[in-house]
Amino acid sequence: MLKVITYPNQKLTKKTKHISRINEPVLKLIEKMKIVMYEYHGVGLSANQVGKNMALSIIEYNDENISDKNIPFLVLVNPKIIKKEKPYLTTEGCLSLPKQEFKVERYDKIELLNTDLNNNRSKIKTNGFLAQIIQHETDHLNGILLCNIAINNENI
Ligand SMILES: [Zn+2]
Repeated sequence: MLKVITYPNQKLTKKTKHISRINEPVLKLIEKMKIVMYEYHGVGLSANQVGKNMALSIIEYNDENISDKNIPFLVLVNPKIIKKEKPYLTTEGCLSLPKQEFKVERYDKIELLNTDLNNNRSKIKTNGFLAQIIQHETDHLNGILLCNIAINNENI
């Protein structure tokens, strides 16, 4: 199984490479990343967290007790946030910064461009928890970690 790499590994702080086309190796990596995300009980995982230099993240959240928060499996490829509205403060953790929480600013409503597994690029509008995870994973792909954007550099 692939392992999640942790800060200060430099692979985490470098902007990831654009994926020119979804092909078989990319699809295989997605399947491997799924196993890692489930194993670590994460709600999202970016390719650079398993040492792969690609603008690719996966997201999924399932909790029978809070079904209104559930998020079906989603793949981000070359995601680009083009609009963000309604900032708020929240606390987040990260598999690459184990056992730590950071206070960060997120936006409740976002719009992004994303490529799907059929190589089609389209605009997604979303809000709330999914928007929060997308911002977290998009930061990863840009080489940004929670400890880089924490308010007051606070490690709660
Ligand atoms: Zn993270």
